[in-house]
Amino acid sequence: MSRPTALITGASRGIGRAIALALAPTHDLTLTARDVNSLNDVAVACTALNATCTTVPLDLRDASAIASALEGHAPDVLINNAGLAVMKPFLELTPDEWQSQVDVNINALYHVTRAVLPAMVARGSGHVITIGSLAGRNTFVGGSCYSGTKHFVMGFTDSLMLEVRDAGVKVSVVMPGSVDTELFPEGTDRSWMLEPSDVAEVVAHMVATPPHALQARVEVRPLSPKRPRR
Ligand code: NAP
Repeated sequence: MSRPTALITGASRGIGRAIALALAPTHDLTLTARDVNSLNDVAVACTALNATCTTVPLDLRDASAIASALEGHAPDVLINNAGLAVMKPFLELTPDEWQSQVDVNINALYHVTRAVLPAMVARGSGHVITIGSLAGRNTFVGGSCYSGTKHFVMGFTDSLMLEVRDAGVKVSVVMPGSVDTELFPEGTDRSWMLEPSDVAEVVAHMVATPPHALQARVEVRPLSPKRPRR
């Protein structure tokens, strides 16, 4: 019997890599990001867990590249995970830093989801999961762009969910608190943060829910910034 398939953006490291490893025992995977060597390493690790893997090197800032790279892909599950954060006071953000965050954290949601959603709707099943953030509920100094993009994710996922649920397609958002990844600048104390696998476990659980049940929004937090991880 053929296995279900998942397409994961930002699969080269961090949370995306952990999601790939968590889904590998049950899903065949299409992994995308820019760093080809890291993507291949993740593919090797997932293959060892029984997944058949395809890697698609892709810069999500390039809308036309997304459309051609994903043409013909019809995954059962889409994980919109790729993202970047430049947390700086607004007046210090360069136009490029602003644009990259908007392109990857917002615009790519349109281009990637647009590429694979029609097949889900036609099939009457599928699941689109986007990695939002607690920064999509909260605000903080230095978050005018990043937090703004993650607030967008909330409106995007909830609206899309209402649009396609009658067609049998699930849409969910996972909102992690701080996770120990390279999203943070070097030197950041990450000893108290969630591990990427903590988020991946939630995603794997969401994917495994029965067809009639939808986990629409889940927050995952480190227990406390005052308690280092053991
Ligand atoms: P990460 O370790 O920096 O990984 C980011 C991923 O996004 C990488 O695989 C990267 O791949 C990909 N990416 C970045 N720019 C890209 C581009 N232009 N084109 C294609 N892929 C691109 O960060 P992470 O923490 O795992 O972040 C994953 C998601 O979780 C993001 O949406 C982030 O906002 C969200 N999140 C993170 C935290 C946290 O505390 N870490 C908390 C809440 C939410 P390449 O560089 O190889 O292209």
